[in-house]
Amino acid sequence: MNIEFRDRQSLINTARAMNRLDLNHGACGNVSKRLAGGMLITPSGMSYETMQAKDVILVTQDGQWEPGRRPSSEWLFHRDIYAQRDDAGAVLHAHAPWCTTLACLQRGIPPFHYMIAAAGNDIRCAAYATFGSQELSVNALAALAGRRACLLANHGLLCLASDLEQVLDLALEVEFLARVYCQTLALGIPDNLDDEEMARVADKFRSYGANIGAGDLAKD
Ligand SMILES: [Zn+2]
Repeated sequence: MNIEFRDRQSLINTARAMNRLDLNHGACGNVSKRLAGGMLITPSGMSYETMQAKDVILVTQDGQWEPGRRPSSEWLFHRDIYAQRDDAGAVLHAHAPWCTTLACLQRGIPPFHYMIAAAGNDIRCAAYATFGSQELSVNALAALAGRRACLLANHGLLCLASDLEQVLDLALEVEFLARVYCQTLALGIPDNLDDEEMARVADKFRSYGANIGAGDLAKD
């Protein structure tokens, strides 16, 4: 099995897991993996269940792909993340229900729980722009500065990590945090952790070598 075939199959497995784990539904959402000179990304509007390795699209860094099936409509922000973030080996976008609930209120997630450090000091909500637009990519990159996850206003969730396994883990963690934040807000106002405590948590993640630790994130 050659490496690219294996990568294509891993991408499909991640996309299927995203739906099986209730992070996403149907053919919305998209997943990509960095390759030298470009990326592999899920195609536009195709069921993950019937997708085969040949259906995964290879997009070059300058935005070219083979004639035929089109890449996900959100390929622009995937491409731009790889161009600007050396720590991104995989990118996942999903319409995860609890993240999307907060995104529809244009609310991010503050450090109300220490596991927020898996994504950064907090999780921002990027300003709204039409799906698939360059403006959405610009807004998403700004919200991701110093972080590995953000919400997209009136839309969903966006995460980056070093590989497909870790980006799926991070997306699950952020969706858990979004659900617990919504539940907490239903009962009262959370007492957020301060910068000093979040820095301590980030240090512990780094020293434990936690897979989704925030240790090497730029402080801003
Ligand atoms: Zn979307």
